[in-house]
Amino acid sequence: MQTTLTDSAEVAADLLNSGGVVAFPTETVYGLGAGICHPEAIRKVFQAKGRPGDNPLIVHIYSIEQLALVADEISTDARLLIERFFPGPLTLVLKKNPHIPYSVTAGLETVGVRCPANPVAREFLSHCTCPVAAPSANLSGLPSATSWEAVYEDLNGKIDALLRGKPSTIGLESTIVDCSTSIPVLLRAGAITLEQLHSVLPEITVNPASDEQETPKSPGLKYPHYAPKASIIPCRTDETIPTGPSSAFIGLSGPPEGVALFKICRNLEEYGRELFSFFRQCDAQGINRIYCELPANSGIGRAIRDRVLRASGSH
Ligand code: AMP
Ligand code: MG
Repeated sequence: MQTTLTDSAEVAADLLNSGGVVAFPTETVYGLGAGICHPEAIRKVFQAKGRPGDNPLIVHIYSIEQLALVADEISTDARLLIERFFPGPLTLVLKKNPHIPYSVTAGLETVGVRCPANPVAREFLSHCTCPVAAPSANLSGLPSATSWEAVYEDLNGKIDALLRGKPSTIGLESTIVDCSTSIPVLLRAGAITLEQLHSVLPEITVNPASDEQETPKSPGLKYPHYAPKASIIPCRTDETIPTGPSSAFIGLSGPPEGVALFKICRNLEEYGRELFSFFRQCDAQGINRIYCELPANSGIGRAIRDRVLRASGSH
C-alpha cells in the first residue's frame, strides 16, 4: 500500500472519510485513526499495528457535543472531569453508545473517549464526518510514536496516510479514568496527574495494576508495552550503574561516566516528552542497555515511572 504523506489536515480527513486509515499528531502521542462508521478501516488499524483484537481503541471527538454519539450515561463525576480537562490529555471510560461497534471496544460495554487539544488534531477532527477510533500509531509492543518520522518508521506502506505535524508536546499516552463505575478509577497515569484529578474528585482511586501490582482492569495494560529492542533498566540517582560502549542513560541527573549515549532532562515534563524518542534513538544506534532514572511516584513522575517499569518488563 502507498502511504500518502501530507501536511494538510483536510486532505488527511478526506482520506479517512473515504474509509482510509490515517495517522495524525496529538499532544500525547501520534494516533492511528479510523472513522467509527468504517468497520473495514477499524479492522485495518488492528492489522497495520499487529494489535491484538482484545485491546480496545480510544474514540477521539472534536467537540463535547459529539460525546452523545459515543457514550451513554455521562455521570456527574464524568461531567466535572470533562469541564475541567477537555480538550486535553485525558481519556474517560464511559458506558458505550449502541452506535459504537464492538470491534472498537474489544467487546466491552464501555468506551474510552478523548478530545485532543493539539491544534492540528483539532483541525483534522473538525473535517472528519464521524468520531475517530485511534490507538497509538506504532507497531504493537514498541514505544509509542511521538514524531511523524517515528510513525513513518513503523507504519509506512501499511496505512493510507500520515498527517505530518510537530513532535508531541507531552510524549506520553493520555491519562485514563474509568467513570463507568460508582467510584472513578485511574487506569493509566499520564500528563493529567492524580493530584489534578483529586482536586476535582477527591474520591478517585488508583487501579492496583496501574500502581505496580495485580491484573490490570484496562485490557491493553496486560500486554508488553513501550519496549525498545534494548533492555530497559530502571535505576536510582544514588546508584552506581555499570556502564559500557553499548549502554545509554536518560534521567534528570548525571550523566554516569562511560555511557555511549545519554539524555539529561531539565524537568519531568522534558523527561516525559523525550522518553520514547530516546528509546527509538538508542535502538537506531545499536544500544543494548538503557538505564532510566526512576522518578518519585507523584505528579507526572507517576506516568514516567509506569512507562519505564512496563518497558523493563517489571509489570
Ligand atoms: P493506546 O491508544 O494504544 O494507548 O491504547 C488505548 C488504551 O486505552 C488501551 O491500553 C486500552 O486498555 C485503553 N482503553 C480503551 N478503551 C477502554 C475501555 N473501554 N476500558 C478500559 N480501557 C480502555
Ligand atoms: Mg499504544
